[in-house]
Amino acid sequence: MKTLYDVLIIGGGPAGLSTAYLCHKHGLSYLVLESGKAIFQGIANSYPEGKLVYASKPKDAPDPFMVDELRPPDKPVTVESYLQYVQHFVQHENLNIQTEVDFEDIKDERDSLGVITSKGTFRGKKVVLSFGSNIPRELSVYGDAKMVAKNVEDAGKYIGIKTLVIGGGNTAADVIINILKAKREVNDMQPVFWAHKAETFDVNKETAQRLGEEILLGGNIRLLPGAMPRIGEVDEEGVDRLVIRINMFQQADGVDLYHAMSFPMQNVIACIGSQGPVPIFDKLAIQTIACTSGVCRIAKEGERLVLLNSDFESTRKGVYVIGGAISPSYMKISEGSIMEEKHPNLIYTAINDAYYVVEAIRSRIGK
Ligand SMILES: Cc1cc2nc3c(=O)[nH]c(=O)nc-3n(C[C@H](O)[C@H](O)[C@H](O)COP(=O)(O)OP(=O)(O)OC[C@H]3O[C@@H](n4cnc5c(N)ncnc54)[C@H](O)[C@@H]3O)c2cc1C
Repeated sequence: MKTLYDVLIIGGGPAGLSTAYLCHKHGLSYLVLESGKAIFQGIANSYPEGKLVYASKPKDAPDPFMVDELRPPDKPVTVESYLQYVQHFVQHENLNIQTEVDFEDIKDERDSLGVITSKGTFRGKKVVLSFGSNIPRELSVYGDAKMVAKNVEDAGKYIGIKTLVIGGGNTAADVIINILKAKREVNDMQPVFWAHKAETFDVNKETAQRLGEEILLGGNIRLLPGAMPRIGEVDEEGVDRLVIRINMFQQADGVDLYHAMSFPMQNVIACIGSQGPVPIFDKLAIQTIACTSGVCRIAKEGERLVLLNSDFESTRKGVYVIGGAISPSYMKISEGSIMEEKHPNLIYTAINDAYYVVEAIRSRIGK
């Protein structure tokens, strides 16, 4: 029988780790499932190098930081030293974390919730969703295609193989520059294919200059403008592959002719941006409400906001949502009315949400 945790925590950023630490402190069993290679992957991926981390607090917020151990220092430090500090803290407290686990879905079990991930199903009495606001977009190809990487942490992994990078912007270009550089250093002439669904690529001047430099120094790049990822398939050897259509000829008889390339999924890097978490809420059958004219001050008309009670519990029983995932605002049900609630995307808010959620869970579970 699988372990039944009191709390399963999705995402190891400030919100998830604060939840974990408070569970640990109060004797609740818990496990953090983080998709990245390490905790705070969201911050590591999104902050520029050397960025200072501020202990910002919204002006009208009455509470101090409720988990002092994870608050950024008053005198701002670089993101690298804040990350290092948090790593030490996690090791010192021996927090229960599994990295490189992708959260996928939640299913109701008899007395618990089953959290389905890329590494199997975990069981919890409560689930805290703290996966932040940057949800990588899916490629939306038909079939069971899974996206394998959204950025490149180890360019060396692509040496000796033909790599496909998808996306037309700066992130894709940066990934390509890193891979070309790694390949050049070991004289690897296997090309990097750069595919984008539009006919033109759109990068800023500085990135274009660095890319140009790599190409002039011998980088082997093949451009595939107007290329569409079409389908995920499994070949005879059981390898997941992505088929990308590189051009199409419509014929009078209605039978289209096209050229396509097929890459093993693990050689594909999709840099197609991020989106808010609404598609995940839809998948989980968590209710959201659309802002109609005059109802919301922060969200725009038509935007959908997740519906939570004052304990951050969603309409799916036992599933809580906190941190960046509900910023910059959500719909709060309280005393019979539903109102848009401001929720600035800050480390402060993420930490303090965790405090209130763990208090609510403790009173429900009785610990
Ligand atoms: C450039 C930049 C600078 C900022 N500077 C400041 C600052 O100085 N001070 C401040 O207070 N705030 C700052 N912020 C905001 C702050 O970083 C966020 O408010 C905070 O990180 C939110 O914490 P979180 O735990 O909710 O989400 P995140 O930090 O995004 O953490 C979410 C975690 O969940 C993981 N995850 C995502 N999807 C899955 C999945 N499917 N399965 C498993 N795990 C998953 C991610 O890898 C990530 O580690 C800044 C933000 C940016 C982008």
